[in-house]
Amino acid sequence: MNKALRPIKVARAAGTGASTVVECCQVCGHAPLEQVLSLGYMPPPNRLTPVGQAPKQQSWYPTNFLYCGLCGLAQLGVVIDPAIVFPPEFPYTTGNTKALRDNFAELYRECSAMLGLAAGDLVVDVGSNDGTLLANFRTPGHRVLGIEPTDVGDIANTREIPTIKRYFTLDVAREVKREHGPASVITATNCFAHIEDVHGIMEAIVELLKPDGVFISESHYLMSLLDGLQYDTIYHEHLRYYSIASLKYLFQMHDMELFHVRPIPTHGGSIRVYAAKRGTRTIEESVGRMLAAELTGNAMAEKLSAFGRQVMLSKLRLLSMLRDLKEKGARIAAIGAAARATTLLHYVGLDEAIIDYVCEVSGSLKIGQCMPGTQIPVVDEARLFSDQPDCALLFSWHIADQLAPMLKAKQFRGRIIVPLPMPRIL
Ligand SMILES: [Zn+2]
Repeated sequence: MNKALRPIKVARAAGTGASTVVECCQVCGHAPLEQVLSLGYMPPPNRLTPVGQAPKQQSWYPTNFLYCGLCGLAQLGVVIDPAIVFPPEFPYTTGNTKALRDNFAELYRECSAMLGLAAGDLVVDVGSNDGTLLANFRTPGHRVLGIEPTDVGDIANTREIPTIKRYFTLDVAREVKREHGPASVITATNCFAHIEDVHGIMEAIVELLKPDGVFISESHYLMSLLDGLQYDTIYHEHLRYYSIASLKYLFQMHDMELFHVRPIPTHGGSIRVYAAKRGTRTIEESVGRMLAAELTGNAMAEKLSAFGRQVMLSKLRLLSMLRDLKEKGARIAAIGAAARATTLLHYVGLDEAIIDYVCEVSGSLKIGQCMPGTQIPVVDEARLFSDQPDCALLFSWHIADQLAPMLKAKQFRGRIIVPLPMPRIL
């Protein structure tokens, strides 16, 4: 990358044990950024404390959602040291979520058909979690390597998905290249928006890729967030909220280009993008089509302003609905202790007096802990069916179509509340 293009005012939070304010766009360096919305102060979304432990002092961070009018990137107003946001005991495993398992199997089918991978080709997954994605590539005989800084990487190693427990940096890319050769494919799903030094990760990708190699990334999509009022996906793991325009800008800065993009359903509306070194691949019509559908200028400014107002109204309506239920003495449990639940809890102002417990599927590492910044316990979902509270509030509302029939099939008799985009009772 041309160093002159790098944003010059970026302060780094990594290693500080604290947070730093974002003074200019993380991709293009433009300032000032426009504030779309403030969700207030939040605890780190994956810092859970064991049930029964007395609450201790903890740092909370401002959660402001900013937009760059130059490159089209939305981003948080502060960046927190990743050691705080992604502690070694990070309790999230991809393999527990069927939608993600299915998505990664589909990613493998799509990219192997499109790229024509050979048996010995090296596939590297950045932020490889428990190895769920790479397992799809290993079975047909590709060489696979995961890079995952948290202890979840140990699970992948026990599943015989070789995994390096490090952050992905230029140095790590060079080491991997020395030991394993260049990569035909590098994937980064649901982490490409999480890593603070986006230009550092791009340099590492360019270093490790073969000249005709392909980078595939999946991220939550800014336009889905805005259209679906998914403010609960705004939290301190997600530093950036990509539009196709902002990704195009980013890849151009590193002499790469997008050659295929498409919407995928994960996390309530994500994008899968394929990029390669400039001029090495035919650019599919999908790129121009999705770019043309994105709003810019005044139309985008109006969209962002309407989004802010609708988020505020959604919160008030949910509070009003829950107040009516609590006035009648209803007991309310919640479903899904994902990071997005932390945003919803704290922005709306829910606590252990309102929500009795949050259910997770058996095997979740969050069971036995309290939701961040509250004393709401996370329990095995079996409790919902034996306890039969009056209402189940779906924190995982983006998969309400699958969850609601499943809860009914397992004989849950209470009412099911879908909190977003506007609260409703099923
Ligand atoms: Zn920008």
